[in-house]
Amino acid sequence: MTTKDAVLDDSEVNVEKVNLLGMSEEKLAAFFESLGEKRFRVKQVMQWMHQRGVIDFDAMSDLSKVLRAKLATVAEITLPELVSEQTSEDGTRKWLVRLAGGSCIETVYIPEGNRGTLCVSSQIGCSLDCSFCATGKQGFNRDLTTAEIVGQLWVAAKAMDSLDPTKDRVISNVVLMGMGEPLLNFDNVVDAMNLMMHDCAYGLSKRRVTLSTAGVVPALDKLGDVTDVSLAISLHAPNDELRNQLVPLNRKYPIAELLRSAQGYLEKLPDKRRKITVEYTLMREINDRPEHARELAALLVDTPCKINLIPFNPFDQSDYQRVSNNALYRFRDILIEAGYTVTLRSTRGDDIDAACGQLAGQVNDRTKRSQRYRQQQDKGLEAVRIIPS
Ligand code: SAH
Repeated sequence: MTTKDAVLDDSEVNVEKVNLLGMSEEKLAAFFESLGEKRFRVKQVMQWMHQRGVIDFDAMSDLSKVLRAKLATVAEITLPELVSEQTSEDGTRKWLVRLAGGSCIETVYIPEGNRGTLCVSSQIGCSLDCSFCATGKQGFNRDLTTAEIVGQLWVAAKAMDSLDPTKDRVISNVVLMGMGEPLLNFDNVVDAMNLMMHDCAYGLSKRRVTLSTAGVVPALDKLGDVTDVSLAISLHAPNDELRNQLVPLNRKYPIAELLRSAQGYLEKLPDKRRKITVEYTLMREINDRPEHARELAALLVDTPCKINLIPFNPFDQSDYQRVSNNALYRFRDILIEAGYTVTLRSTRGDDIDAACGQLAGQVNDRTKRSQRYRQQQDKGLEAVRIIPS
């Protein structure tokens, strides 16, 4: 990236050459058609970019010399700039990448046995401001482009030397659980997930690409019409009163509407055995009591789901504390007794601030929110306190 790019606002970025990295198969087909090229070029170029990690047209040896030269004049394959990389004691890896406009986002890789999950971001910052999430405190800058979402997978795979058909694939799963609310960046996220699953690109299984949402109901109502990825919903509370405080979006789309919409998503999938994942971040004395677990068990009785319990990960500006182990296991056991499948998300990578909710990046905040939180902290004032119900 040039210094000029670094000071440009996203809306001013030079768009003379088109970036092929984030183009869906259909968009690439239209692009090659506009060049008077045959359709099979789409597959070839997709494989070069996404499967072999080649971004120099000149190295695409099965394209004619003339086409390579033409591509170099009208197109480019541009990736986010890798700024730094950290590796945790437990093998978790985190990359900081800089995007057009100067903001940085974080992408995390979590190895687990013979699987590996990449946690990618969908926006720079987040507009939702959930009270327990570090990303929200940074404010919001803009949506990521499709290329920037897919680019995180490219950068991570390249860094781990697995963007090479002859090497083992180390990233088996992708979760959209980094910075941002994916359903507020609908079209770019859908195109990016489709590329992640495309046979000529990353070829991930639809069960292994998971979109996580705080509950943007109108967008969730449409999601099943365009994709069949796995769905996770960030519930975190068993009733509206508490959820309104933790996830402000709940005031607009309350729990009953969210669950109805999530069930509607499942109904559109051909495979009737699929379930959603309900994410529940446990905060001490806030939402971790036995009565909360019982209320949650009753609430989800008609929702085909498994429940993922996430111990709260503290960060600098947070008011909450991690659930105690006793409360965590008690909570889990109540749900298991009620017949649910429950998983505990182990805290990974917290020595490098890579755990859930700790991703912060460097957001050029367009809202006043990050400034407000900083002032509150400087004055030693408490940020919005949740009164336990
Ligand atoms: N906006 C989307 C995706 C980003 S958050 C969503 O809300 O689902 C990914 C998951 O991490 C969510 O379930 C989120 O609620 C959870 N999370 C956020 N902050 C956390 C923290 N400090 N500790 C533990 N989990 C957290």
